[in-house]
Amino acid sequence: ADKRIFNFSAGPSMLPEEVLRTASEQMLNYKGSGMSVMEMSHRSSAYDQIIKEAQRRLRALLQIPDNYKVLFLQGGASTQFSAIPMNLLRSGSADYVITGHFANLAYKEATKYGAIQVAGSTQEENFSRIPTQEELQLRKDADYVYLCSNNTIYGTQWKYVPQTQGVPIVADMSSDILSRTIDVSQYGLIFAGAQKNMGIAGVTVVIVREDLLGFQLAGTPTMLNYQIMADKDSMYNTPPTYAIYILGLVLEWIERQGGLEAIEARNERKAKLLYDYLDSSTFYQAAAQKQDRSLMNVTFCTPSKELDALFVSESIKAGMSNLKGHRAVGGIRASIYNAMPMEGVEHLVAFMKAFEATNG
Ligand code: PMP
Repeated sequence: ADKRIFNFSAGPSMLPEEVLRTASEQMLNYKGSGMSVMEMSHRSSAYDQIIKEAQRRLRALLQIPDNYKVLFLQGGASTQFSAIPMNLLRSGSADYVITGHFANLAYKEATKYGAIQVAGSTQEENFSRIPTQEELQLRKDADYVYLCSNNTIYGTQWKYVPQTQGVPIVADMSSDILSRTIDVSQYGLIFAGAQKNMGIAGVTVVIVREDLLGFQLAGTPTMLNYQIMADKDSMYNTPPTYAIYILGLVLEWIERQGGLEAIEARNERKAKLLYDYLDSSTFYQAAAQKQDRSLMNVTFCTPSKELDALFVSESIKAGMSNLKGHRAVGGIRASIYNAMPMEGVEHLVAFMKAFEATNG
């Protein structure tokens, strides 16, 4: 009855089992404090250590330069769709690259606050790829260029950082942060909800270059004002205490795996296993174009909607969950974030082969 299954959910998604075990061991009495982290004052010295350690570990893993602030915020990644234009539109214009559903939502939200242009879009190709550098139409005087580094629904991922002639890049990394090494200094702002690779829903991480702060629009709510949140070390009010604690455990786990280089190598092996099989099969069809395929969300379909549905229902019986594609695209989606072990992907590929043999 307590058997865990391979959970291919796009988010909230699988956590490393070690993290869950530690959280469970510490649930009633955190390190002799006599209380759960859930019951702790956010101003206590025990909690102060938890939040500072989480920030320190994140800075170390991503090699975040000193001139960047790390903020732990609430409201999900979606709240940043509003906070970003409110804080960064100092002269009033920004360029957005539309590569999927969430980039489009961010774009629409930003149009409330300034002169926003679409710098590129692959909507007409069902978001099956990322625009190339040559296709991007970037303004030299824009306040920022916005992109979504991994498109959770469509299964595409940016494999390059665009040249923007000094215009800061703002990146939504909700579904691929900590999955690979990045050079933070190539970005003005990086943000991500935690519920995929960083832990549980409730905390949103914002990494922002200091010189971009302090230019918020008049009327920006205090809770959305990066400058205030930075000045108060994310403690202007009660932060999402438990979600930050879990983030700390996940970061420790990543360190034990050997850091982001090791995580990245493993993610490449996992995705390769799936994509190689998809490419060798005439039964399954991958949704994303080869050069832009996501290592985190693998989207594909069988020859028919009926077989897609059968695939999903049979996969549940085989000990896997959440393989149904997003309702906007249909088909099948396997989300294989950091916490999905290689055995989970092997189990899925074996199931796919058997399903193809029976239904192909
Ligand atoms: N951006 C991306 C890339 C996402 O995948 C998601 C959620 N799946 C969001 C933004 C929205 O995140 P939230 O639900 O935390 O607002």
